[in-house]
Amino acid sequence: MRLFDTLSREIRDLQPIDKQTYRFYCCGPTVYGPAHIGNFRTFVVQDVFRRALELGGLATKHVRNLTDVDDKTIRDAQAAGMTLKAFTDGWTEKFHADCEALNCLKPHIEPSAVEHIPHQIKMIEDLVEKDHAYASEDGSVYFKISSFPEYGQLSRLDERELNLGQTSATRSDSDEYEKESLADFVLWKARREEDGENYWSSPWGEGRPGWHLECSAMILEYLGADFDMHAGGEDLVFPHHDNEIAQSKCSCGGDFAHHWFHSTHLLVDGGKMSKSKGNFYVLKDLEEKGFTASEVRFTLIGAHYRKQLNFTLDSLHAAREALGKLRKAEQALAELAGNPPALRFEDLKGLKNKGLFENAWEGLNEDLNTQRAIGAVFGALRKALNEPDPETQLKGLHLMLQALGIELPEPPEEEAVELPSEILTLAAERWAAREAKEWEKSDELRDQLKQKGWIVKDGQGGYEVLPE
Ligand code: AMP
Ligand code: ZN
Repeated sequence: MRLFDTLSREIRDLQPIDKQTYRFYCCGPTVYGPAHIGNFRTFVVQDVFRRALELGGLATKHVRNLTDVDDKTIRDAQAAGMTLKAFTDGWTEKFHADCEALNCLKPHIEPSAVEHIPHQIKMIEDLVEKDHAYASEDGSVYFKISSFPEYGQLSRLDERELNLGQTSATRSDSDEYEKESLADFVLWKARREEDGENYWSSPWGEGRPGWHLECSAMILEYLGADFDMHAGGEDLVFPHHDNEIAQSKCSCGGDFAHHWFHSTHLLVDGGKMSKSKGNFYVLKDLEEKGFTASEVRFTLIGAHYRKQLNFTLDSLHAAREALGKLRKAEQALAELAGNPPALRFEDLKGLKNKGLFENAWEGLNEDLNTQRAIGAVFGALRKALNEPDPETQLKGLHLMLQALGIELPEPPEEEAVELPSEILTLAAERWAAREAKEWEKSDELRDQLKQKGWIVKDGQGGYEVLPE
């Protein structure tokens, strides 16, 4: 596969460092409320990425963390009068249920920040010892960004005309800060009253880790100092990922991530999602409006991950229609192929002959272009029913459905398709021609039906007319 890399700004070939397993880390959800469909654009895109790698024949190691201690989780757990654990466990459970509904594969490892406090403390100790971090008067510890001349390469500080010289004595102790502010960021936050019971002991006194640190510490634990890829939404490039690079390279050496994969934010009704505008959607809201999780997933992969995707309720209607068409075409192809047993994800790994779906597969493997891939699937389906090897075509189709994580809807119980009388007449004439062995005439009538958007399937002693 080839994929755009945020650091080099080039589309690069992906090769696992150890030549066997592609090891990648995705920044996971902050579990202080339900993940919204914007978050899920990122997680679903990452899921398609992993599916495509594995179906292409590569093993993967997918690590995605849970942010269960930070400014927001503590603030909201306190407000709810709950322990941090009970509060974040509840939202973690909801997150997992949504991931499952959206057909996302579970990461191989899902570490939580709270469970890795000692790892984070150890990393801070290393940074202090190497003079990349310092403790302040109140017992907080900050990363000294001027100690790392490479700081800001991912987000290109130089192009933003910011330089490290501007930072002396500027510190930020909040987990999130603006793109244009450059500051020594907090690694350890001294205990404050508003944190309630949420503090841990450290060599600098009681407190809790800063948000940026957890990913660096957990990556070191599960993937080491060099690993294949780091992924997240575009908002994480700065400061989160630039901070991760600084912490990790300064504490343990190594090159950290060899590839950076960022997805563009989802827009809703042409703008940012916000509660006050009423366009803030979580999966449940859409399900309550009668849409399925599959329709939501299909919509989220409808545009290339580096392009803007504008989510509207209309786009969900379009997804419903597209999935319905896919299901009918899949059913027709399966029947032509003699209804072979369904192939699972595992069975399709490394499939060589993709039939007409080769082009769709290539689209996916060229910078994970889901939009091109979906277009090519429909293009292939227009021809697949007339190919001599329906079994090959069916496998190609199933490979693409599995790669995109598309689950086809169940057929409606009674699918009565209204056949226009003109179509009925043509189909009857064609059958009569066929019975009379007038092959040329019967082919011509089949073509005429096709041009009008209908296909004919012959069985023993009869025929069926289906929409294309
Ligand atoms: P959070 O729970 O805020 O830490 O975010 C989890 C993931 O969702 C991160 O990779 C974010 O970059 C990503 N994300 C947040 N908002 C959006 C959005 N509107 N569109 C796409 N991804 C997003
Ligand atoms: Zn992270």
